[in-house]
Amino acid sequence: MNKLPQIPTSPNAPSKSVDSGSLCDNNDATRATSNNSHAVHKRATTAQRPAAMIPLVHWSRRILGVPNHQEDLRTTVAIKAEYIWIDGTEPTPQLRSKTKVISDDSGTDLADMPVWGFDGSSTNQATGDKSDCVLKPARVFPDPIRGGENVLVLCEVMLVDGKAHPTNTRAAAARTAKKYKKHEPMFGIEQEYTMLKPNGNPLGFPDDGFPAPQGPYYCGVGEIAITGRNIAEDHMDACLAAGVTISGINAEVMPGQWEFQVGPAGLLEVSDELWVGRYLLHRIAEDYGVVISIDAKPVKGDWNGAGAHTNFSTKEMREDGGMKHIEAGCKALGRRAAVHIASYGDGVEDRLTGAHETQRHDQFSYGVSDRGASVRIPWQVAVDKKGYLEDRRPNGNIDPYVVARLMVDTICGAMK
Ligand code: ADP
Ligand code: MN
Ligand code: MN
Ligand code: MN
Repeated sequence: MNKLPQIPTSPNAPSKSVDSGSLCDNNDATRATSNNSHAVHKRATTAQRPAAMIPLVHWSRRILGVPNHQEDLRTTVAIKAEYIWIDGTEPTPQLRSKTKVISDDSGTDLADMPVWGFDGSSTNQATGDKSDCVLKPARVFPDPIRGGENVLVLCEVMLVDGKAHPTNTRAAAARTAKKYKKHEPMFGIEQEYTMLKPNGNPLGFPDDGFPAPQGPYYCGVGEIAITGRNIAEDHMDACLAAGVTISGINAEVMPGQWEFQVGPAGLLEVSDELWVGRYLLHRIAEDYGVVISIDAKPVKGDWNGAGAHTNFSTKEMREDGGMKHIEAGCKALGRRAAVHIASYGDGVEDRLTGAHETQRHDQFSYGVSDRGASVRIPWQVAVDKKGYLEDRRPNGNIDPYVVARLMVDTICGAMK
């Protein structure tokens, strides 16, 4: 097998092949250009790139024999800050991002990041006559894709008068996190997703028809059954380099379906990091020519949907004797089941059918080890009589700010 990175033949061609397995290869040239800990996502060097990908100024300087300082300038003078926000797409908001080049003497702490703006009329967040929306930096992460001093800046969307935009769900989540801080809520969210080919079929699905039925794929190992592992691995490395508290990955029940888990972390932290984890996943998959879907039911029929099981605990649940608080939490969730289901992602009724390891969307149940229940108490938790509960209802396409806030409001709101 060719151990060199895939070199695109046109600027639009995917620069990685999902089938080659050659992504994180040991290539001296790629290593030499990325002597920083965040550059896990290696790219073809300038020397390896075809002429079409080399910026014109760079190329013409070479022809003219002018020394080229552009590479040095790129890494020493300017920092690329990728401003990331959540748009107003309905029914499921999408990620957006754009790059701000800032001077490297300005620092990269949150306080150093300037407020910025965007055209809200292009993101379903404003009308054309009052199109300006404001980007208020909320968290800064090292950018594992660009490496170096470059950063990812997760933002809240604000109105020009300084109030939270109606699509800004982080603001309400922050209020709830503050209100119930003394219970120290912790979350672990399992993000299931599906890798799609350009024709819209999941990876591992033939162009016509279907693959062999579900069974061997979940946590499977093997060339035939499992596809997309190099994307999942690359994504895990990127999360680790960015400081996203990823706690694991696994191949899922349907071919082309994978999962990564974020947490355990607090309400705002887990939600911020899940959004940044999604950003990194989309961004890495672009280079493979693969599209990531977090749709709840990407393939109709006898194929598992994609969930975002939300594992939750309070300080009281984690302490000795925590089981009674876990059961009280389950009961509190049951009393507000309809309110929760309404915010658990577009298409939740199609996914929560009672089949494929789900409880029906219009019924509520909880139980130890029960993957057919709405809420599961893991067996180890039952043995220890303390720990956490797993809300299995949230879809893959949830807004974690909304779901995590609701769980804290419902469960902590019911505590004495
Ligand atoms: P499953 O068996 O449902 O596939 P996973 O191992 O995928 O479980 O996910 C379990 C999640 O629970 C992880 O994200 C982990 O961080 C989280 N978790 C573990 N302990 C706690 C806790 N005390 N509170 C909240 N989340 C927790
Ligand atoms: Mn899991
Ligand atoms: Mn899963
Ligand atoms: Mn789970």
